[in-house]
Amino acid sequence: MKISKIIAREVLDSRGYPTLKTSIVLADGTTASAQVPSGASTGVHEALELRDKEKRFFGKGVLKAIENIALIEKKLKNLNVFDQERLDKTMCELDGTPNKSKLGANAILSVSLAAARVASIAARMPLYKYLRETCNLKEKEYILPCPMLNIINGGVHADSGLNIQEFMIVPTKQKTFKEALQAASEVYHTLKNLLAQNNLSTSIGDEGGFAPKIKKHEEVFRLLLKATAKAGYPNMPFAIDCAASEFYEEAFYYFEGKKLSYKELSDIYSNFAVNFPIISIEDPFEQDDWQAWEYFTQKEGKKLNIVGDDLFVTNFDRVELGIERKAANSVLIKLNQIGTLSETIKVIYKAKRSGLSTIISHRSGETEDSFIADLAVAVNSGAIKSGAPARSERLAKYNRLLEIEAELAGKAIFAKDKVFKKK
Ligand code: PGA
Ligand code: ZN
Repeated sequence: MKISKIIAREVLDSRGYPTLKTSIVLADGTTASAQVPSGASTGVHEALELRDKEKRFFGKGVLKAIENIALIEKKLKNLNVFDQERLDKTMCELDGTPNKSKLGANAILSVSLAAARVASIAARMPLYKYLRETCNLKEKEYILPCPMLNIINGGVHADSGLNIQEFMIVPTKQKTFKEALQAASEVYHTLKNLLAQNNLSTSIGDEGGFAPKIKKHEEVFRLLLKATAKAGYPNMPFAIDCAASEFYEEAFYYFEGKKLSYKELSDIYSNFAVNFPIISIEDPFEQDDWQAWEYFTQKEGKKLNIVGDDLFVTNFDRVELGIERKAANSVLIKLNQIGTLSETIKVIYKAKRSGLSTIISHRSGETEDSFIADLAVAVNSGAIKSGAPARSERLAKYNRLLEIEAELAGKAIFAKDKVFKKK
């Protein structure tokens, strides 16, 4: 089936900043669209998100990216929409730069995802099934990912003053995705009451988690322990995303008001993991501080999921280097860090083949597009990060997973304990 038209529009994301919504029309009139997300704690090695840098929207307009879609349309018109790899490759070649800085990774990704979605409709398949088949993924069973829900927001996602960007709960003990989501929602609301009782703010950060002004990270873990116990889930594990590049400067980490070496910071993390049920630590160190990553993975990698986000930026070469250096044991996957669906899937399979787990992730600036839910099921990722169980741009993904689980009743299993080292 041939592509006949590509139409892009500027819409607003969950933070109220512009992003692209791109629609593809096929020769028979079938149409579908995709929207792209946007990060705040963006890794320096990510593909380029093209912004206008003009007065409107404080420089954040995406009209230039939209103009570039017209160039993409010229190249992709009349190509077969079922040939995802060729479409993605054609766009990469048209761009011609290593980080998609000419056309913009946001422009390219919006077309890449819209193509997959419209193709799935034309093929009369649910998106997750289409992705599995078209990307030649061999798995037979379907696994529903375990959600990792960010219920306290810090770092650059909130003004809470906390260095650690995300405090997540990970409902690994439930039997189904639906039960896991219910448990998470009950913990979330119990936490809200606890915060209010302690005269702490229940206002929220960018990913729907609360953003109370708390100085000590330990205090947050203690609150989470209370919330999970009170809600009736005393053994629910935690995960954190430190986003440490944001508090790193010239070889030191500025954490809770102290200047620390990577070894000192490692000890703090190790203590957290001894004292609290933490199973996963993302971006514990700066994105190019390889020696710190190697040291920590050597020390804790058997017990903990050590997840590279800014370290890997969903980039094949960086993941390959990370595997070689044993710098982490898990890869965070964000489509817009690399800019095409095909490249993202290549990275996921590189990680899997090498024994690293993967976590499919949203961005802090999101839209109602739920593509990553289908992607997580298509590749049997085992885990997904989509923020708190609140705010529709976060729930769009979780709600889509509820739908997929119901659709696959009896044919899919919930990831549960499969992904994480420590339960
Ligand atoms: P970002 O944060 O989307 O602002 O980069 C998410 C993350 O760091 O995982
Ligand atoms: Zn992260």
